[in-house]
Order: sequence, then C-alpha cells, then structure tokens
Amino acid sequence: MKYRNFQMVPKVIFGRNSFDQLGEILMPQRRNSEAPFIFLVDDVLEQQQEFISRIPVMFQDRIIFINVEEEPKTDQVDAIVKMINEQYGEEPSGIIGIGGGSVMDLTKATALLLTNPGSASDYQGWDLVKRKGVYHVGIPTLSGTGAEVSRTAVLTGPEKKLGINSDYTPFDQVVLDPVLTRGVPKDQWFYTGMDCFIHCVESLEGHFINTFSESYGEKAYEMCTEVYTCQHMSESERQNKLMMASWHGGLSIAYSQVGVAHALSYGLSYELGIHHGVGNCIVFDHLEAYYPEGVQKFREMKEINEIALPKGVCSGLSEAQFDTMIGVALGMEPLWENALGEHWKEKIDEKKIRSLYEKM
Ligand code: NAD
Ligand code: ZN
Repeated sequence: MKYRNFQMVPKVIFGRNSFDQLGEILMPQRRNSEAPFIFLVDDVLEQQQEFISRIPVMFQDRIIFINVEEEPKTDQVDAIVKMINEQYGEEPSGIIGIGGGSVMDLTKATALLLTNPGSASDYQGWDLVKRKGVYHVGIPTLSGTGAEVSRTAVLTGPEKKLGINSDYTPFDQVVLDPVLTRGVPKDQWFYTGMDCFIHCVESLEGHFINTFSESYGEKAYEMCTEVYTCQHMSESERQNKLMMASWHGGLSIAYSQVGVAHALSYGLSYELGIHHGVGNCIVFDHLEAYYPEGVQKFREMKEINEIALPKGVCSGLSEAQFDTMIGVALGMEPLWENALGEHWKEKIDEKKIRSLYEKM
C-alpha cells in the first residue's frame, strides 16, 4: 500500500469580514512596486462598488473581471497568462482569485502557467506540473465545491474536461470570509451546496474511505444537512457553516474519491455544458440504487428549500451524444472503483449508464 502525502493549504484565515485583512496578508508577498498582484474577480461582483473598493490594489496591481457563464477553459487560462506576460516586465507578485469554484480553478491554473511553459492543456492530468507556480490566494464567494482546498484546477480543454492535479496546485493562502457569500441566488446556493453534500456521500459510501476522509466527511455532512434543513438558523450562521462544510468536504474527497454522481455529471457537463453543481443534482436525484440514504436526504432538502431541478435534459439527444456522454462517464475509472469496488467493471456498463441518462 502506497499512501498519498497530501499537500495541505499552508495558510488560511476564517472569519466574518476577514477579507479586510487581505492588504496586510499580501504586503510581505509583494516583491517590489513593479511586480503586481493580479486579482481575478467574478464579474457578478463588478457592480458591487463598495466591495470592489475594499480590494487592496496598489502600484501596478490590476483587477480582471471574469465571466463564468461557461466553466473555465484551458485557452482562457492561456489568454490570461499571455496578457499578463505581455503587459508586465516582471512575474507578478501573486494571483488572487475572488469568486466561486470557476474562479478558484482559473486562478490556480493561471498561477501555474505563469511559471510553466506551454498551454494549460499540457498539464491536464496527474503530477505533470514541474515548477512551483506564482504565489496564489483563493477567496471563495460561493460555498460547496471545495475548490478552495483541493489540489486540482478543473478545466475544459480541447480534448477533455480534466483537472491540473499536482502538489503545486493548492493555494498558498485562503481567505474564508462567509460574508462574501451573501448575494448568491437561492438556486445556485442549493446546487453548489449540494456539490458538497454529494462529495460527503460519495466519499463516506465509497470503497476508498479511511479515517482521515471520514473525520472531515462526517462533519461536513452534518453541517450541510443542518444548513439545508434547519428552519431556525440565522443567515450568518448558515453562511459560516456552509463555508466550513465546503472546506471539510473538499478535504474528505482529497484523501478518498468521488463516485457515481460525479462520473455521470462529468458526461453531462462535457457534452451539454451543464454546470457542475446543477449537473450533480440532476444526476444524484436518480441514484437511489447506489446511495439510498443520501438520495432520500437530498430529496428532503430539495423539498424544504423549494428547489425545482431542470428536467428532460437528455431528451432528444442523438445516439452520438449519448455515446460521448457514456464514454466520458465510464472513463472516470477511479470514481467507479471507489463507488463499486475493485470489480466495478462487472457492475456497471454502457446500457446501465444509458438508462440512467434517459431518466434525466
Ligand atoms: P461558479 O463559480 O461557476 O459560479 C456559479 C454562479 O454563481 C456564477 O453565475 C457566479 O457568477 C455566481 N456567484 C458566485 N459568487 C457569487 C456571489 N457571492 N453572489 C452572487 N453570485 C455569485 O460555481 P461553483 O459551483 O462554485 O463552481 C463550479 C466550478 O467549480 C466548475 O467549473 C467545477 O468544475 C469546479 N469544481 C472544482 C473543484 C475542485 O476541486 N477544483 C471541485 C468541484 C467543482
Ligand atoms: Zn463536485
């Protein structure tokens, strides 16, 4: 047995309005006035002038607003890196991402590609990154994906949707300020929060489960279900708990693996562009055969929060589209092995996956 030597995020600050300490956190990392900090900020925050004015920009620092209508792509990373290289004579002092999972991943990948040659697509896979990236900071404004703590930056490339997984990928610093999640629309709050819930179920119910993952997964499961079922919780407590649930859920899968829902959701995302959170919810609702208790709890939370999931997303798809989706899903081998065990190939096949997709 070879155990993974997991690279943790070395520095994290948690607290309401901890964002206001960002200036002092960055100061010692600033190399000189010519080496800027680049802030990649979800463009949903662009209109929030009061918030934008709190971003501690100095000298040559730059704010770049990022549109996340489509999930991050390798060529988007390449374009940002090219622009930074062309505009500044020096390597930046750091890259700071402020946004949801999409901006977290874009930030991690940009930091790596500033010091590693070629295209982001060259590094999709496991441990292909050879050099430390520039200093990078993650500041989530949406809770659930665990991207703030994970060692991957998930990107859609010309050939595949796959993460840049490496020990250099995790942030050097994370700022967990639950106040920043205040404006998230209800549906999105549910979908991304359920990403965390599903991480916990898939980790805890999987074959790769171990005490390390269990200790984080159980706590995250508990906090997540409280957030989505307890009627008497203050808004600030809800924000605090979901932010820490996301963190713990991310740590839980980091040392185990996700499962059936993520495998099928990757297929939906690759072929139909369906976003990760909502895609996971669409899939998970049909997985009672694999995760009976989890699915029951999920439906209860969906009902309490009056969430309606998109229906019929696979109706009218061509044979070729089904084939692509099934191919992407079945290609996620470690996920199936975690969900169904060593002999997973005897338990799942194209026909079973097709019949699940047809229900969605
Ligand atoms: P997202 O980042 O794609 O954002 C979803 C929507 O919420 C966007 O419209 C965004 O503008 C909006 N939003 C974000 N913060 C907001 C705020 N404070 N107020 C109002 N609106 C806000 O969503 P996500 O679910 O956080 O992330 C999904 C992405 O994360 C996918 O690309 C997925 O592949 C990736 N992911 C990565 C990991 C990882 O470990 N790296 C894990 C899971 C998912
Ligand atoms: Zn996920």
